[in-house]
This record gives sequence, structure tokens and C-alpha cells, in this order.
Amino acid sequence: MAETERSIFSRIIAGEIPADVVYDSERIIAFRDIAPQAPLHLLVVPKTEQYRDVTELAAGDPDLLAELVATAKKLAAEHSDGDFRLIFNTGPGAGQTVFHVHAHVLSGQLEEGRLG
Ligand code: 5GP
Repeated sequence: MAETERSIFSRIIAGEIPADVVYDSERIIAFRDIAPQAPLHLLVVPKTEQYRDVTELAAGDPDLLAELVATAKKLAAEHSDGDFRLIFNTGPGAGQTVFHVHAHVLSGQLEEGRLG
């Protein structure tokens, strides 16, 4: 894939851009959102950039989607009271800006904004 086509998340995964990483496994990474919309706002991201959104991930690798959801639960338990919102913006009209599938994990009071 050409350099210009790589997602910002692929550059974080490659260590080319710094991020506050809270979880790193063979297939998934999680880091704090740069513009948090809640006291806890993590992005849980499959390392492959093969899937643009959650519908593609569900169709292409349901086991990886299940692993992503389980990781969200584990991280919410570790970093908050354990209750959380799991948001997959899907398509530009729904607010998706990075076309490398990722889950927003939000816990605590949401800020007024596009995710709220
Ligand atoms: P989307 O709008 O695609 O659902 O979510 C993309 C998210 O990525 C946004 O909440 C945005 O704040 C976050 N984001 C964009 N660029 C960066 C970055 O360089 N580092 C981090 N940590 N988050 C980013």
C-alpha cells in the first residue's frame, strides 16, 4: 500500500506517531483518543488496516471483532467502573473520519459533541 494511503492508526501502530497506548497485543492495539469526549475515551483498533469499518470486519473476520469487543470490556473494567459505551462510527455521514476500523470506548459523562 502506498505511503499516502496508510491510515493515521497504521502510523501509530508502526510507532511513527506517538500515542498513549494502554493495550498492545498480537492483533489489537488500544490508545487514548487525542480529543477525548468522556473521562475515559479509548480507541480499540485491529492492527490490520484491511477493514474500513465494523461491517467489513464483521463479514471478514468475526473472531477479530469478538476479540475487539472482549478487549473493550477488559479495558473498561481496568480504567473505569466497568460500564461503557462502544461506538463504531460507520461512514462519513455518521462521523467516521478514520477509515481503519476502530471502536470508541467511552466511560463516564460524555462531553457535548459529535459522539454525544
Ligand atoms: P472517527 O471520527 O473515525 O469515528 O474516530 C477517529 C478518532 O480518532 C477521533 O475521535 C479522533 O479524535 C481520533 N484521532 C485522530 N487522530 C488521532 C491521533 O493522531 N491520535 C489519537 N490518539 N487519536 C486520534
